[in-house]
Amino acid sequence: MNLILLGPPGAGKGTQAKFIAKKFNLYQLSTGDLLREEIKNKTEIGKKIKHVIAHGDFVVDEIVNQLLKTVTTNPSNRNSIIFDGYPRNINQAENLETILNTDNQSINFILFLKVTREVIEKRILGRITCEKCNKTFNKYLNNEEIEKHKCGNNYLKKREDDNQEVIITRYEEYMKKTKQVLDFYSPRSYFHEIDGSQKIQVITNKIEQILTV
Ligand code: AMP
Repeated sequence: MNLILLGPPGAGKGTQAKFIAKKFNLYQLSTGDLLREEIKNKTEIGKKIKHVIAHGDFVVDEIVNQLLKTVTTNPSNRNSIIFDGYPRNINQAENLETILNTDNQSINFILFLKVTREVIEKRILGRITCEKCNKTFNKYLNNEEIEKHKCGNNYLKKREDDNQEVIITRYEEYMKKTKQVLDFYSPRSYFHEIDGSQKIQVITNKIEQILTV
């Protein structure tokens, strides 16, 4: 089973992807994570995209598509992928179709997490991620969990692009480009819209329901 998680930045795609990946034994393919890994490892790609990401713009398709193709066609991931943060524009949506068709794979579910800009701002401004295990918390909502986190508090970091100014750019980029992706997918029978402003567990239950039908 391959599935795509759609939604604006801060909609909870990463959080849900982690739960689903574990429960259904899938691979979470987050293009944001792949790109941040390049930056962390100071690769040639990493050097090129550091400022783009810090500014909240989209990385050029050429780079993202190449990274995506390698992971998508890797035999150990084939037909068990959650696409998180991809596709973000029509070109990427078409590219994904081509890669999957050529590799004899398909998309089985498309889940769209719908959230308002107010909710997004609150979530993103409070978001902190553990650099060791990649778990995400919200410092306004998960104080107790943060205190008890198994890796300790030293690894908990705020993302550089999670600030008020960059949130606006990222949201506008999303509205401008990713809305077309929604129009592209929404007529399909396996497209599902979910209210992403609900509690994490409620959304997870809803997703499980959809995937187990
Ligand atoms: P995310 O972790 O999904 O919020 O992505 C963080 C940043 O990585 C975005 O603001 C973009 O700069 C870049 N990025 C992630 N995925 C893509 C993509 N599919 N296309 C272009 N840029 C991307």
